[in-house]
Amino acid sequence: MNWNKALFGLLVAVMLVSSCAKVPFTGRRQLKMVPIPTINNMSFAQYDAFLKENKIINGGSEVAMVRRIGNKMVKAVDLYYKQNGLGDKLSEFNWEFNVVDNDSVVNAFCMPGGKVVVYTGIMKVAQNEDGLAVVMGHEIAHALAHHGNERMTQTLGVQGAISGIDLVLAARTGMAETPEEAQKRAYTRQVFAAAAGVGAQVGILLPFSRKHESEADKIGLYLLAMCGYDVDAAAPFWQRMAKTGGQAPPEFLSTHPHPETRQANLTKWAAEAREIGKKYPVK
Ligand SMILES: [Zn+2]
Repeated sequence: MNWNKALFGLLVAVMLVSSCAKVPFTGRRQLKMVPIPTINNMSFAQYDAFLKENKIINGGSEVAMVRRIGNKMVKAVDLYYKQNGLGDKLSEFNWEFNVVDNDSVVNAFCMPGGKVVVYTGIMKVAQNEDGLAVVMGHEIAHALAHHGNERMTQTLGVQGAISGIDLVLAARTGMAETPEEAQKRAYTRQVFAAAAGVGAQVGILLPFSRKHESEADKIGLYLLAMCGYDVDAAAPFWQRMAKTGGQAPPEFLSTHPHPETRQANLTKWAAEAREIGKKYPVK
């Protein structure tokens, strides 16, 4: 009897039961197997590296706007989670909002655990604070719904996703590796990076599925309404995004919902969002 294997099997069984969680706001059941501290460690390290490699703006009106929206959305999350018995989940996030000075990149992302980046390029398409809140609500929604974790679980498989623990431990201790182990870990690291939103830099693209995009749209609208932003700003913003040419960044690559479906959904969910906004208004 191989006790390691038996233990691993038991661990998988326990985790399968405990990790079939529900997505906040939508109630959709999802399978996410990467332990949250593991994915957050990875994400926070990558975020720090990203900040060092890019030109970060430290002050001024653009940064102030991004942080104002961000802080309101964090308040909305706090309020909603506490009133819905999810208060213990708030520790899964360590929010941070930064702006990259690069007008030619029309992109924004929120890495697992709440690390947000907004490029000045997308602020031009957003046009104003309501438009920017649409972008940030959508990105924050991906993190709240743990879409990165779910994608990693799907891409690596259950065992691979769980061995993320081992990956992080190995990185910390500088443990000796066989060539196969090294290869497997390198691949896992790339998938982590891709799922965390910096895939283009590691050569693996792992776009969100249409299902995830629609879910992020919906949760994003809820956040907008709770923060007192204009939910009707969402449909025109995505129309402008669809018209933006040039190189598409990973988050906006190919799996965004069909433009017409997206417009119809946004209109349909706007009324729902307004109700949520009345129920959980951020002061
Ligand atoms: Zn998205």
